[in-house]
Amino acid sequence: MSMRRRLVIGNWKMNGNRAENQQLLSDLVNLQKVGGAGADDGTKGADVELAVCAPFPYLPQVADALKGTGITWGAQDASEHAKGAYTGEVSVAMLAEFGCSWALVGHSERRAYHGETSDVVARKAAAVIQGGLTPVVCVGETQAEREAGDTLKIIDEQLAPVLALGADAVKNMVLAYEPVWAIGTGLTASPEQAQEVHAHIRKLLAAAGAPEQRVLYGGSVKAANATSLFAKEDIDGALVGGASLVATDFQGIADA
Ligand code: PGA
Repeated sequence: MSMRRRLVIGNWKMNGNRAENQQLLSDLVNLQKVGGAGADDGTKGADVELAVCAPFPYLPQVADALKGTGITWGAQDASEHAKGAYTGEVSVAMLAEFGCSWALVGHSERRAYHGETSDVVARKAAAVIQGGLTPVVCVGETQAEREAGDTLKIIDEQLAPVLALGADAVKNMVLAYEPVWAIGTGLTASPEQAQEVHAHIRKLLAAAGAPEQRVLYGGSVKAANATSLFAKEDIDGALVGGASLVATDFQGIADA
């Protein structure tokens, strides 16, 4: 067992509404209270850290619902800029005002649909750290890249500008390996496929002077496959899309 505390982050993506969120959040809080004995903070499972990343407009709602519960929250993106004429963008300082601990950066959907390059992702990660939040930097190959045998090369390319931020920055990051072909498809990387990439990322982190950073796996994680993924040495938790929208499914992953 490593010293790295397990972390499970829900990525709601563009889902939810005020009423559904309220239900989901209160279900999550109630599930956390079940069997609370033994945990430091009175919540279940002090051995696993839980967080949710919600759409921007709902961050105040999430903050109200989760304050003081031991579950933390964050955003799904952040601007690389501090302020100014950037229509539609949201700064890290704004996220901090709503108590966010996390911001996802470089999710494959941002890379694919919003043209985010790895350089942009690195600048966003730097801005998030500068603003006192923790970036969850997402990387992963497409199906075609995997079939071409390029998986590790793609990971190297995506991480190069991020790791070039230096050890002090990298020590404030969480990384997430999310193979694009496994996201929302029901196809999960096998624990062995995931571990191979996680071990590679761990090597890159070590070379960057931050070997103990957490590396999450994402891509169709469910309670049923979480146990075998989490059993792997370099898999420190999960970034969960679809299954984070149902409290019992999300909690099931946390319990795995
Ligand atoms: P999924 O999404 O769990 O629905 O596959 C994961 C993600 O995109 O973060």
